[in-house]
Amino acid sequence: MKRSAGLILAAMMLGISAAAGAQMPPRPVPKAVNSAARPKLVVVIVVDQMRADYIEKFRGQWTSGLKRLVEQAAWFREAAYPYAATETCVGHATISTGALPAMSGMVANAWWDRESQKLVTCTADPKAKNSGYAGTAANGGDSAWRLRVPAFADELRFQAGAATRVVTFSLKARAAIMLGGHKADAATWLEGDGWVTSNVYGTLPFIEAYAKAHPVKEDYGKTWTLSLPRSAYLYDEKAVGAVAPGGWDLSFPHPLRGRSGGSEADEAFYGQWATSPFANTYLTKLAETAIDQLGLGKGGGTDYLGVSYSSTDYVGHSFGPQSWEVQDTYARLDKDLGELLKHLDEKAGAGNYVVALSADHGVVPTPESMSQTGADAGELHIPEVQQKIEDTLKSFGYAAPAVARIASADVYFAPGIYEKLKAEPAALSAVMAAIRGVPGVADVYRAEDLTDRPATNSPIRVAESNSFFPARSGDLVIVPKPYWLGVSSPAGKSRDSGTGHGTPYYYDQRVPILLMGGGIQKGEYFGAATPADIAPTLAALCGITLATHDGRVLSEALFKKSATAAPAVPH
Ligand SMILES: [Zn+2]
Repeated sequence: MKRSAGLILAAMMLGISAAAGAQMPPRPVPKAVNSAARPKLVVVIVVDQMRADYIEKFRGQWTSGLKRLVEQAAWFREAAYPYAATETCVGHATISTGALPAMSGMVANAWWDRESQKLVTCTADPKAKNSGYAGTAANGGDSAWRLRVPAFADELRFQAGAATRVVTFSLKARAAIMLGGHKADAATWLEGDGWVTSNVYGTLPFIEAYAKAHPVKEDYGKTWTLSLPRSAYLYDEKAVGAVAPGGWDLSFPHPLRGRSGGSEADEAFYGQWATSPFANTYLTKLAETAIDQLGLGKGGGTDYLGVSYSSTDYVGHSFGPQSWEVQDTYARLDKDLGELLKHLDEKAGAGNYVVALSADHGVVPTPESMSQTGADAGELHIPEVQQKIEDTLKSFGYAAPAVARIASADVYFAPGIYEKLKAEPAALSAVMAAIRGVPGVADVYRAEDLTDRPATNSPIRVAESNSFFPARSGDLVIVPKPYWLGVSSPAGKSRDSGTGHGTPYYYDQRVPILLMGGGIQKGEYFGAATPADIAPTLAALCGITLATHDGRVLSEALFKKSATAAPAVPH
């Protein structure tokens, strides 16, 4: 199974060298291939850090796009990621491919690369070169070359038999790239003061024109105020445990003026902009321009548009999931999505497109707000874990530093150390006991506990193994206690964000899945589902085959040919 996946990938990687630069005109497709039921446009919307219960808690604040989706879509209310590494790159790769990280290889936003002995991001590609639109400076190179399986969008353009245009937008490279896959006509993200892409993808003239006409700094001087009456918000106005971006108070209004006292767009301004609803509105307008300029949904085949809204994540990290900032961001996103869906109805045609909305992960409440309820909550200081490991190994005669890096929850030892530890069980046991002794640690697994996705009754171990990929994951993997936030700051020092995610607990794993459009049976579905089911379901609607995937077709939400089905016959 692994070999055939490798061959498919190799074939795809070869294809990448052919430039995707030119704007591909739609080509007619023979009738036999273009079934009437097949959508003309697939729209995948990821709302970064959208907890499933935001719908249940905040839907009363919505009047437009989010309301329409909740009422007219197939809503999978109990969808959750079945793995531990609930991070952005991982979630986007899962939605995009239908494969869990144990198969896709996307185990984190960044991991320790044992070969180069460096931390690498999930999209870092030494052979690629990024370039900026409208004079924006670009650094490094990014692509999906570390993604070990084809994306749904890759398979769609390969199998559809007609021109498929693939276009994605996000503030984050890892979101735009994972949604677009190995090859896209355009994958566009924000870097510094403007929009960039990589030479692995195409550059489209309309994006250049839009970026020139609408520089981000145009929003300098705007102020983010509450968009709903004060009585519409839940919880307290001032979020407990929040850490606001530089230059901002902990409550409204939030002026986009950079560092206090500044008079022009500085680095702090771009941070504030990304942490505001204005960036979501910008992405929506970019997506609408793509629909217009490329005529998405009007070609001979099935086009693909991916939009990942990142500001919801930045706002959530700063202010926490109960803040008025999060609620207002969703109230405004509701309006943006209403505009986008209206635009799709008018331009692509109602019934011609299918929308899948989900999130890449959820988020944990701030430790301070959880502590107020009497729950066991706090900060898990990663530097303390590292120090405890070094101290323990010193007593067994190991030279420091024995730990190369702790990235996310993964402990990577310096070359040769873990092999030595495995031959010295007393030392390894002592290290694991030391890690378990750090406040906030629930457990720690050895790499060999998690390989080959072991059958076990422990849901946490299953979740950890579903996001374990031997070459990339740690030698040891730390499991935090519920409601304990992993922080990179040492004990006694303040942390750099209000809260976070990345654990095997439901507040990080549970996200919405909303499917709307032709072929979808609307309703509320309470059966088990994961975001890995989205790509196989879209593949079924589009009549294509994914070579490998962990997800299933959400068949309960697909229209049946006949309402009076014959009784099932065992076979
Ligand atoms: Zn995210």
